[in-house]
Amino acid sequence: MGLENPLTHLINQLSKFPGIGEKSAQRLAFFLLSQSEGDVRRMADAMVNTREKIKYCNTCFNISFQDTCHVCADPKREGSQLCIVASPKDIFAFERSGEFKGVYHVLGGVISPIDGVHPDMLRIQELIMRCRQGDFKEVIMAINATIEGDATMLYLTELLSSFDIKVSKLAYGLPVGADIDYADELTLQKAMMGRLLV
Ligand SMILES: [Zn+2]
Repeated sequence: MGLENPLTHLINQLSKFPGIGEKSAQRLAFFLLSQSEGDVRRMADAMVNTREKIKYCNTCFNISFQDTCHVCADPKREGSQLCIVASPKDIFAFERSGEFKGVYHVLGGVISPIDGVHPDMLRIQELIMRCRQGDFKEVIMAINATIEGDATMLYLTELLSSFDIKVSKLAYGLPVGADIDYADELTLQKAMMGRLLV
């Protein structure tokens, strides 16, 4: 490993990025070689810094640089609407679309017994606690409509049925199985506006 050619090592590291195969990793590596040492250092520092400073919001488990994320800390957000997402990157997608004015809850994945993900490994207890303590009038399940996503929404619907809270899920405009974080802003706006009661 210590004898590995540094360029080969760089290409191997870059090919770990999602969607980046070996050819793209080579292109990125040669791009980096064409940049000044200062520019490359700034990019590397940005990666390391972000990784070191990132935390999770105490309330919603969004990624944050403080104990409370910028959404939970914003007094203008509508505290009666809670949007449940699988991952913080889905929050980024909804924030880009600008349609949702409420607050979020990040599950940290979806139920998938085949991948060894069981309900107790997700932040479902925390969700129930928030529903007990909060003044939510509506909970919107914004989870990808995959087999695992649908199973997760079914599980949550049953759990949430004991609360006096309206439960809805996104309308599909959003293609079945589509990744929320890849959806364009207009599609997400429409999915949120036309959400369906469950
Ligand atoms: Zn938060």
